[in-house]
Amino acid sequence: MESSLPVVECFHSLQGEGEHAGRSSYFIRLASCKVGCPWCDTKESWNSELHPQRSLIDLSICTAKAQKEGAAFVVITGGEPLHHNLDLLCEEIRKCTLSLENKSIPIHLETSGVDILSGNPDWITLSPKRHFPPRLDNLLSCQELKVVVQNKEDLYFAEKMVDLIKSNGNIKPKLFLQAGWDNEEAKAMAIKYVKNNPDWRLSMQTHKWLGVL
Ligand code: SF4
Repeated sequence: MESSLPVVECFHSLQGEGEHAGRSSYFIRLASCKVGCPWCDTKESWNSELHPQRSLIDLSICTAKAQKEGAAFVVITGGEPLHHNLDLLCEEIRKCTLSLENKSIPIHLETSGVDILSGNPDWITLSPKRHFPPRLDNLLSCQELKVVVQNKEDLYFAEKMVDLIKSNGNIKPKLFLQAGWDNEEAKAMAIKYVKNNPDWRLSMQTHKWLGVL
């Protein structure tokens, strides 16, 4: 198993999207993604060879420092973080951030769900992609389902994901639609859909609106 991982960036900021929007969080953005979404806003993360390897210990120490400065949780994102086995990283983070009350920092994972789950995260945000659907076991494990809407087909896909979850008896995740950035038609479509389907909520990329890193 890897003792270091390719890292695009780490930073302490606010979670901008979904259920935990507005909360203090430490982000670890891992490099590598083969999912290839045309609208991707982190294309620089795709090629892991362009990014430095950082040791798991170093990443864990930085997470512990952010925790001391107020981060309520750590978000492992990408790229597609599950292209890597996250077991050792999450183990190190949990060890390094263990408090006197025997609690470690909650680990959130943002993934498209195309690979085997690892790291035993406390919160999974699954953002499934129509052109590269997620594994069913990941779909059934997520706490939050976030579907990016670029066109009408994405709404049908969102419904299909929920049908799959329902028919396999999972506890219902929180449901979010997120309109593609700078896509006015998608924004109108997502707002209309949420107005007519109260199980769904609109996920705003508040960090982009506010200009927060
Ligand atoms: S899965 Fe995420 S990082 Fe990968 S291409 Fe799609 S949007 Fe970009």
